[in-house]
Amino acid sequence: MSRFRADLLSDTITAPSAGMRAAMAAAEVGDDVFGEDPSVRALEERVAGMLGHEAGLFTPTGSLANQLGLRLHVRPGQELLSDAGAHVVRAELGAAAVFSGITSRTWSAPAGRLDPEAALELAQVGVGPYQVETALVVVENTHNFGGGTIQPIDSIRRLRSATTDLGIATHLDGARLWNAHVATGTSLADYGTLFDTVSVCLSKGLGAPVGSVLVGSAEAMAEARVWRKRYGAGMRQAGVLAAAGLYALDHHIERLADDHGRARRFAAAVAEVAPGVVDPGGVETNIVMLDVAAHRVDPRAAVAALGERSVRVYAVDSRRLRCVWHLDVDDAATDLAVAAVRELLGH
Ligand SMILES: *Cc1c(COP(=O)(O)O)cnc(C)c1O
Repeated sequence: MSRFRADLLSDTITAPSAGMRAAMAAAEVGDDVFGEDPSVRALEERVAGMLGHEAGLFTPTGSLANQLGLRLHVRPGQELLSDAGAHVVRAELGAAAVFSGITSRTWSAPAGRLDPEAALELAQVGVGPYQVETALVVVENTHNFGGGTIQPIDSIRRLRSATTDLGIATHLDGARLWNAHVATGTSLADYGTLFDTVSVCLSKGLGAPVGSVLVGSAEAMAEARVWRKRYGAGMRQAGVLAAAGLYALDHHIERLADDHGRARRFAAAVAEVAPGVVDPGGVETNIVMLDVAAHRVDPRAAVAALGERSVRVYAVDSRRLRCVWHLDVDDAATDLAVAAVRELLGH
């Protein structure tokens, strides 16, 4: 349990519920390195099916799922393209370069919104012996540092059609794809089949303690399985963790709409007292970015002041606070956060 009464630091901080713990305790397990854990296999098959792909691979983290996906598509010395705020280039500690010899180029994207034309302008294939060959475009949906932004499916389709013509692969960082699915009603498979590989997190809004899944073709997942073991992430009786993921898929997807509603309500209440700080219309899912610098408040000072009122938020940069809704933030906690932030910005 968090020591804050409204802990909006991240949707990763949820603790497994009693029901989830019971499912974990009851999980059938085996040695997954030998492919003998029935719970892991069930989770991999189920997530692959939901996303319209042949096979899945359970990983301890979303970063690993992304990194296994990237290396399937890009050879050392080739490049990937993404927007400049993407998790794969901003928050995975250079892993694509360190482990896979991948260079990256980025386009800038306000609010992280996908601009297929900006991506395609950077793409180069068949560029001969001295320019870097583009092998992959990465899309993040929803976009974390962009503020929970949903990527319009028509933009993804335009990108996919052009990259297919160019022979460039696509990977979806779908850590929060569940949120995009619930907010738009677009099926997970409609999103998933527009990419060669997709990673999804079970440990964010879905509330599992650990775990992500990478999906793709059976052949690609067989190769990713070898690399997962080579990286030291072949897990044994991982079914206790997979069971938490299966429980989350059964019980915690549709309720993400509650998080979205609370995030919007919070943003609207803050905008009433400090209109320049947040545009409630721009809140699409469970993340609210507050531009407190627009109100001449320093984000780090704001974190400290809110902490004293038992509200925890994250200072993303020198202007903004990030507030994230999840399973463990209810209406009362949202009210507390509204009151604390309004008091901070109201004067
Ligand atoms: C959280 C997150 C990941 C994976 O993070 P891990 O902490 O490695 O599980 C990947 N992409 C995005 C957009 C994320 O928000």
